[in-house]
Amino acid sequence: MDKHKGNLFILSAPSGAGKSTLYKALLKQDEQVRISISHTTRAPRAGEEDGREYFFTDPESFLDMIADDAFFEHAQVFDNYYGTSKASIFSMLEEGLDVILEIDWQGARQVRSLYPEAIGIFILPPSLQALEERLKGRGTDSEDVIQRRMAKAVNEMSHYNEYDFVIINDDFDAALSQITSIFKAMRAKNAVMVQKHNNLINDLLSL
Ligand code: GDP
Ligand code: ADP
Ligand code: 5GP
Repeated sequence: MDKHKGNLFILSAPSGAGKSTLYKALLKQDEQVRISISHTTRAPRAGEEDGREYFFTDPESFLDMIADDAFFEHAQVFDNYYGTSKASIFSMLEEGLDVILEIDWQGARQVRSLYPEAIGIFILPPSLQALEERLKGRGTDSEDVIQRRMAKAVNEMSHYNEYDFVIINDDFDAALSQITSIFKAMRAKNAVMVQKHNNLINDLLSL
């Protein structure tokens, strides 16, 4: 796969750990960052809009997109399909933007094998109790859905060591500051600078 000017980030966490809140705050303060909007077959939650949080799709259309090879990665999470379309990421990376994929560990594995430069960040909650309180406090899911997400959380978290970075989202501002530092540091990596500032580096070395 071609090298791109921007970095591809994978953000994973058990549901309720705070990944959406974190990336939204990061997007507000860093204009070089974009989020990839996934397709999903789950129903929109109150307040979610088609094309903003997700492209909400029916299962038939989702299967058609799989058949058309339109997905970079896709996975079944809970009872629904989720997927990242190729169209949603490559043009932005080529422009030099950093793109976040908010995806589960199965999708992360697919992305790493297709795109080894991808940088993985795993968000952990400070405790299981805090996780459950956040899911309840968010007020978007029924008790039944919350219990199923809690049951899945330990399995999701057991994959933390497949990621380059781990952030514990206890104090929100501290977690935001850590993720901001990771994005900034990754932009200064040698291979990224060579892609992005090729002309300058050639000029500097051509006296
Ligand atoms: P949330 O975890 O509370 O934000 O609930 P969602 O229903 O939005 O997401 C459920 C799970 O699906 C999470 O683990 C997400 O990381 C994962 N997910 C979302 N989009 C994608 C995607 O495009 N691909 C894959 N593989 N997983 C996704
Ligand atoms: P996810 O996207 O991982 O499912 P959310 O970003 O929706 O999680 O966060 C779940 C809930 O927890 C939200 O109501 C959010 O406001 C809250 N939350 C996020 N970070 C923190 C934190 N550090 N302390 C307390 N509550 C938090
Ligand atoms: P959202 O609706 O995007 O999930 O969150 C709304 C706002 O609440 C965001 O701007 C986010 O910074 C803030 N927020 C959510 N949870 C916390 C928290 O636990 N601590 C702090 N300081 N801010 C939070």
